[in-house]
Amino acid sequence: MIVIFLGAPGSGKGTQAEQLAKHLNVPFISTGNMLREQVSQSSVLGLKAKSFMEEGGLVPDRDVISMIKERVTQKDCIRGFVLDGFPRNSIQSKALDKAMIEINREVNKVVYLEVPKEVVIERISFRRVCRRCKANFHLKYAPPRLENKCDACGSELYQRTDDTTETITKRYAIYLEQTQSLKDYYQDRLIAIDGNRRKEEIGQSISEKLKVTAR
Ligand SMILES: [Zn+2]
Repeated sequence: MIVIFLGAPGSGKGTQAEQLAKHLNVPFISTGNMLREQVSQSSVLGLKAKSFMEEGGLVPDRDVISMIKERVTQKDCIRGFVLDGFPRNSIQSKALDKAMIEINREVNKVVYLEVPKEVVIERISFRRVCRRCKANFHLKYAPPRLENKCDACGSELYQRTDDTTETITKRYAIYLEQTQSLKDYYQDRLIAIDGNRRKEEIGQSISEKLKVTAR
């Protein structure tokens, strides 16, 4: 099964997408993680991506498309995959469909997580991420046991440079503009989920709607 997640930055879609991928036993493909990885390796794409991300903007379509296309045509994606952060606009969704047709596949379901803007801003500005294992914490709702240390591996936590209120507001505006076109594009496969609930409840509704039983 090939599943795409749509939702505002901070809607919790990354967490849900990763969980679903685990249950389906298929790769979880996050453009955010892939780009941050490129940045930390200081690759050509990474250096380019860095300047865009720091300004709260988005990496150009062409770069993201070729990165994703290469990833989803790898062997481990043969049983399907779950995408987070891609496609972001109709240029990307068309490019993805084209790439899928080439390998005789199609996007099966599109999960759209609905969360009000105020909630999104609160979630993101309190978010801290582990430098090493990338685990997420929330200073208010899911704080680490020790200050500024990851519960899982003990490494240092940091605030992503694109997680400030200013860049969030900017990202949210871009997001709203582009999401409507994606919802229209995928309307025949779209599953809308109320994302303003507890993590577990959201996960359960996603499973039910996708009819994923092994959970
Ligand atoms: Zn960690």
